[in-house]
Amino acid sequence: MVTKTFSLEKVKPLVGIGHKHFGENKVQEAIEKWSLLKENTPNIKLHMIGKLQSNKVKNVVPLFDYIHSLDNYKLAEKIAKEQEKFKKKIKLFIQVNIGEEEQKSGVNQKDLPEFFSNCIRNLNLDIIGLMCLPPMDKDPKIFFKKMQNLKKDLGLKELSMGMSGDYLEAMNYGSTFVRIGSKILGNRSQ
Ligand SMILES: *Cc1c(COP(=O)(O)O)cnc(C)c1O
Repeated sequence: MVTKTFSLEKVKPLVGIGHKHFGENKVQEAIEKWSLLKENTPNIKLHMIGKLQSNKVKNVVPLFDYIHSLDNYKLAEKIAKEQEKFKKKIKLFIQVNIGEEEQKSGVNQKDLPEFFSNCIRNLNLDIIGLMCLPPMDKDPKIFFKKMQNLKKDLGLKELSMGMSGDYLEAMNYGSTFVRIGSKILGNRSQ
């Protein structure tokens, strides 16, 4: 469940009934919101789903369990180095720029096999799957289908795709991690 911008007060009841996986897109907000609660509730898993700058990795590694937005090699190197310090292995999704949109982050399809193999061979990262944000103005089906094929080609298990507006379709194409915020928690004011 994506809890970005929602206060801890709003989210706490969901922790109380046993929901475990929570997504945030800003490092500072996540630290303020989750540090203490996570320490006291170790079965909570935190997912970094937003654009991640390399200089923030040192703050992300101690708190988060998953990163969905691995999109460049410098970031991959930084994650490898920091997680070594913390003796921790973050579960990672490579973000794919599946619509090849200029304004979007993500590895391009054609660069994906090499990027993936460098992350595994050179850095020994725990890449568990692929993530995408399909273009806003197009039918997401063809992009979800492409993602499903890419995942299969690389022999990966997980797919992070689908949000409030398109999660049912994403699941039809094998999504294993849907990222839903507003459909559960209501509209975000920010
Ligand atoms: C905000 C966000 C979501 C959740 O969006 P909703 O439409 O509220 O479900 C999912 N993925 C990413 C990367 C986000 O930033």
